[in-house]
Amino acid sequence: MVDILPEQTPLWQSMESAATEILSGYGYEEIRLPIIETTHLFARSIGEVTDIVEKEMYSFADRNDESMTLRPEGTAGCVRAVVQHNLAQTPQRFWYAGPMFRYERPQKGRQRQFHQLGVESFGVATPDQDAELIALSRQLWRRLGIDDALTLEINNIGSAPDRARYREALVSYLSTCREQLDPDSQRRLDTNPLRILDSKNAETQKVLDAAPVLKDYLDAESRSEFDRLLTYLEELRIPYRVNPRLVRGLDYYNKCVFEWTTEHLGAQGTVCGGGRYDGLVATFGGRDTPAAGFAIGLERLILLMQALDIKVSSPADLYVVTADEAAFRHALSRVDWLRDQFPELDVVQHLGGGSFKSQFKRADKSGAAWALVYGEAEVAANKVTLKPLRADAEQRTIDDSDLPAFLTDYLVEAYGA
Ligand code: ATP
Ligand code: MG
Repeated sequence: MVDILPEQTPLWQSMESAATEILSGYGYEEIRLPIIETTHLFARSIGEVTDIVEKEMYSFADRNDESMTLRPEGTAGCVRAVVQHNLAQTPQRFWYAGPMFRYERPQKGRQRQFHQLGVESFGVATPDQDAELIALSRQLWRRLGIDDALTLEINNIGSAPDRARYREALVSYLSTCREQLDPDSQRRLDTNPLRILDSKNAETQKVLDAAPVLKDYLDAESRSEFDRLLTYLEELRIPYRVNPRLVRGLDYYNKCVFEWTTEHLGAQGTVCGGGRYDGLVATFGGRDTPAAGFAIGLERLILLMQALDIKVSSPADLYVVTADEAAFRHALSRVDWLRDQFPELDVVQHLGGGSFKSQFKRADKSGAAWALVYGEAEVAANKVTLKPLRADAEQRTIDDSDLPAFLTDYLVEAYGA
């Protein structure tokens, strides 16, 4: 589990504000969910024989001896809330963001506490919904300047009965060459054979080349919906790669599944994964409700932005320097008034006194554009000195009453506001 330090938070904040803006622009509403749910909830939605439930959950018995789990993902809790509060009477669009917990081997792009931004939509069964989710995610990549570094992989995994028939065919083929599979895949052959398809092992991949393909087992409806989705993506000019081995690691998915991947992050190259999960609401006791969603791994987005050298910084605008105790007292109410009048301005007040020289050192370090200086002469004459710290501008001393006009001009110049 890692700390996110102030050096990194500007990048997080710019990513979060871009995401919120885009999501509300699409009509998605924020929903805030508990971080802990009953273990049972995750086991029955994600699936008993998935990586997450088998070996990655942080579960513990509470004081009443009920097994609780720190959420490893957000969809299960969101669906629980939708059913509990009867939210899916009409189509609904939700999003949430926050920490998720998985007991994994920590490595680049894999943490035990990480963050996801999840988007879930309820009540629309047609592929226009899937297209909207994909287009929305692409808008976010564009806004963040990372769209060129991401590739959309997409697959149709059909309905549960389709997959059951396919699973049989796959198992009977793979059983004939069991010894050539890696140990993980051998184990999965008995538990979750579809997951063998996304094994990274080269030998296993070779065996898979001759395996039956899921596509041949899919019903007409999911095939024609998938084709419609692909035409929507073409209209949107979103390049995609159909990856017949993309199955996703959670049991609740059906029909369209997708991932956005990058080559800039090594083995942990998936920054976003999602798909349709039409059966889940009914599994939780709700009315049969089609649904689809995706989750973005926010640490991986940050890593990608760093790999692409995308920087954001928000240094202060003003740093307030005062000569002595009397000047400090004189400046207090004036600076307070400034904060009221110019809420968009970042004003750092020097604290702890000290010589002008040491105060200016701090002012320089703060990255502020201007120092606001209250010396003895300024205080006596109700004036203030403006000293440029970064820009190639002239130092000047002005009347207090001229400061608002100066700051208005500064804001226009610095932010175009
Ligand atoms: P992976 O194959 O990388 O283990 P997953 O299928 O377990 O991914 P999902 O459950 O689909 O991942 O989660 C969606 C996204 O959340 C992933 O694509 C990834 O960006 C991010 N993510 C998942 N697990 C972690 C983790 N342990 N640390 C950081 N990010 C993660
Ligand atoms: Mg995983």
